[in-house]
Amino acid sequence: MIQLIDVSKSFFQVNHEIQVLKKIHLTINKGDYLAITGVSGSGKSTLMNIIGCLDQASLGDYYFNDLNIRELDDNQLSETRNQLIGFVFQHFHLLPRLTALENVMLPLVYGGVSEKHRKVLASEALSQVGLEDRMAFLPTVLSGGQKQRVAIARALVTKAPLILADEPTGALDSKSSELIMAIFQELNQQGKTIVTITHEKEVANCAKRQILLKDGAIIEER
Ligand code: ADP
Ligand code: MG
Repeated sequence: MIQLIDVSKSFFQVNHEIQVLKKIHLTINKGDYLAITGVSGSGKSTLMNIIGCLDQASLGDYYFNDLNIRELDDNQLSETRNQLIGFVFQHFHLLPRLTALENVMLPLVYGGVSEKHRKVLASEALSQVGLEDRMAFLPTVLSGGQKQRVAIARALVTKAPLILADEPTGALDSKSSELIMAIFQELNQQGKTIVTITHEKEVANCAKRQILLKDGAIIEER
């Protein structure tokens, strides 16, 4: 599904270059459940942004389903993101004035799905994460764990094959974290490919594979 071949990433600041990723070589197959671990500043989010087509490698190649990401224009990149990737963030990124249902319907707006069908698909996705009784609620009246479940439903609604999660349990108590991990496990068993960033051991241990980043390089894989 995904292949990174010697991917490096540098950022340029006033008069010097910081190399944040160094020759990352990584293959992610359909059905994988991969945890990316490492201390703060080791390059996890930068790697995630590249995998999520939100940023481009400075050097090296990135293939997603045999598409060379470097060759896509901005429209094709947005389309790839929308159709192939569901994003989950530490702080949920829900729109506060929209209900849970409306938040989950959003990614389908770009796909040109009719409103009626958007509602059906969004309520199915919310049921998948056990929130069928919270659809009309605004994010402000939901707990952290419930907000994250809404965000997961939003990542599921397009039926994208890959879920990318950046510290999905980082803002949650341990009980809510366990529920989120159980949802990821179940989704993976149903065939969803999952890549999650975490620096929590228990979360990493739920994945089938782990890579450890240090100073922008993969120093351990298991
Ligand atoms: P992590 O997610 O593991 O904490 P990041 O990928 O966010 O690490 O950052 C890795 C390193 O890259 C850090 O030293 C950070 O300061 C630097 N960095 C990240 N993004 C930028 C940027 N846009 N410009 C300059 N430096 C950056
Ligand atoms: Mg980060």
